[in-house]
Amino acid sequence: MQKFIEKGYEIIDFEEKADIYVVNTCTVTNMSDRKSRQMLRRVKKNNPNSILVVVGCYVNVAKEELEKIKDIDIILGNNEKNNIVECVENFENKEKITDVMQQKEFIDFGSVTYTNKTRATIKIQDGCDRFCTYCIVPYARGRVRSRQISSIIEEVEKIAKRGIKEVIVTGIHVASYGKDFGYKIKLIDVLEKINNIEGIERIRLGSLEPTLINKEFLDRLSKLDKICNHFHLSLQSGCDTVLERMNRKYTSNDFRNSVKLLREYYKNVLLTADVIVGFPGETDEEFMNTYKFLEEIKFYRMHIFKYSQRNGTKAAIMPNQIDGNIKEERSNKLIELSNKIQNEYNLSYIGKKQKVLFEEKENNFLKGHTNNFLMVNVNDSEDFINQIKDVEIVGIENNELIGKIAM
Ligand code: SF4
Repeated sequence: MQKFIEKGYEIIDFEEKADIYVVNTCTVTNMSDRKSRQMLRRVKKNNPNSILVVVGCYVNVAKEELEKIKDIDIILGNNEKNNIVECVENFENKEKITDVMQQKEFIDFGSVTYTNKTRATIKIQDGCDRFCTYCIVPYARGRVRSRQISSIIEEVEKIAKRGIKEVIVTGIHVASYGKDFGYKIKLIDVLEKINNIEGIERIRLGSLEPTLINKEFLDRLSKLDKICNHFHLSLQSGCDTVLERMNRKYTSNDFRNSVKLLREYYKNVLLTADVIVGFPGETDEEFMNTYKFLEEIKFYRMHIFKYSQRNGTKAAIMPNQIDGNIKEERSNKLIELSNKIQNEYNLSYIGKKQKVLFEEKENNFLKGHTNNFLMVNVNDSEDFINQIKDVEIVGIENNELIGKIAM
């Protein structure tokens, strides 16, 4: 499996329709022989055009028997397993394989999801060229591919025609949008076009990297009236030595400057962030650097991830992997900090009026978000779903705001 991952293939569940199936056989008992044969028969039923590779001990003891099964395309004994990817790629039917690393164009299929009646997420970019040391995405999803701007606009127009008011613009690494077009068209060009689409009232952006946020970008972005003043930033660590080991392309100070700029351009902006704790080699001191950085920046909310080893990535084989209990402890500390800061922000909204787009109704409570992504609950018998209303914030419950429709 590792060899396929290194070559950029995507590993999917056996039950899904794949281009290549590898059946690793066992021959410890007669039962395992039978199970192997049953599995082989299932493969071509799943996808008759796939390449079926059989490896493992059964091959070594009963190759002739397997050769009689017409569905099998490649048979490799244990001593030949190392060449599995080359064998597959040299197989005469290899044009059947979709090599994600060779994929040059964005595939539009399935790039919109509707969260509810009010919001749709549109994916405008796939793949990533950044190779962060903990991440399998560049191997699994291939290089940066951007969706044609005309196709994006067409799709958002369709979304607007369905009466959807809010669109979230995302990608695997949305800041790289246009890299494969030589940046002749950039993310900001796409956002300007979407901003002109009638019916769309709010545009949110998926996770952004601080490297994108500069004066040139914000000068243009801040002129777009539909862009929400909430930004989710991909921080990962507030400690420079950890960021370097992660192969992130910024320092904590670059990040600080991006936050400063965002707060200058957007009044009442709320920022959220992703943070990884327990990255290989993260010392107590490095963790505390991150902790202090987060205390200083004050994100509205932080998504805390405990680092987990991903085979095929550089970080998985780094020395000094962190013990699970330490990761747990660090994660709890950051969650506590995040809740405390969120509560402080929430308190500062009591008595203020906010515009809320209502998304759903649960037990007589209308639920919706403000422009800067505060969740607001309103106890009201009216059905204001998919409508934007003025709401006065009157309290807090479970770290969410409680409001009443303003007269
Ligand atoms: S973490 Fe993000 S930027 Fe880094 S390699 Fe993965 S997808 Fe790319």
